[in-house]
Amino acid sequence: MLPRQFYSLRQKINERMPHGPAVSTVYMLHEVYAEGETPQDAGCAVSLSRFAAWLDSLDAARIIAPEHLSAQGSILLTFDDIFASACRWAIPHLRGRGLPYTVFIATGLVGKQGYFSESDLRSLAADPLCTFGAHTVHHGLLRFEAEDTVRREMRDSKDYLEALLGREVEDFAFPYGSVYACSRANIEQVQACGFRRGFSTLSRSVTASDLREPWFLPRRNINDTNLQRKGF
Ligand SMILES: [Zn+2]
Repeated sequence: MLPRQFYSLRQKINERMPHGPAVSTVYMLHEVYAEGETPQDAGCAVSLSRFAAWLDSLDAARIIAPEHLSAQGSILLTFDDIFASACRWAIPHLRGRGLPYTVFIATGLVGKQGYFSESDLRSLAADPLCTFGAHTVHHGLLRFEAEDTVRREMRDSKDYLEALLGREVEDFAFPYGSVYACSRANIEQVQACGFRRGFSTLSRSVTASDLREPWFLPRRNINDTNLQRKGF
């Protein structure tokens, strides 16, 4: 096993090397907390007021569902895991504005303290603005799992959500999503399990070459630190 630094370097190189002009941008969010609340992980959290100010700065007409990711200038908003706070604060905000959004659900976290409940899921399943994506069952580091475990984690989370929704689940996001967390074999499994797109945490825009092999699409992390740096 190569040292972790090797994969971190590969990730940095991938993020900085030229990939051609940007087609679209995918944003990744986790927790969205109200003033006075303490998030579970500050590195993956943004306050509701900062989130709302950032959302105001985006061109709402460009915010799309994943199947339209090849539209030039499109923006995809994704929420991972998925936290009760996102459901309580961010999603009503998006629904109020009529903006589409995507939730990547680790199905084993459903009903756990701080995460979506089954009734949250049922309510989102009825929302035409919401696209469901799979995020495995147990949120493991897939590089270190056996191949049949990886397949089961992908398939079981897909099957659970499809049974709930009564429609196909086309999107998958890798837990952790880094080059370190995901092997080439893991990435190939996304297609083999019947997904149409896979999402990573490579931090850059999506290009035409990414969309030709859309199994490890990049996403930009949105948290307080990143938005503060942008002046929000
Ligand atoms: Zn996750």
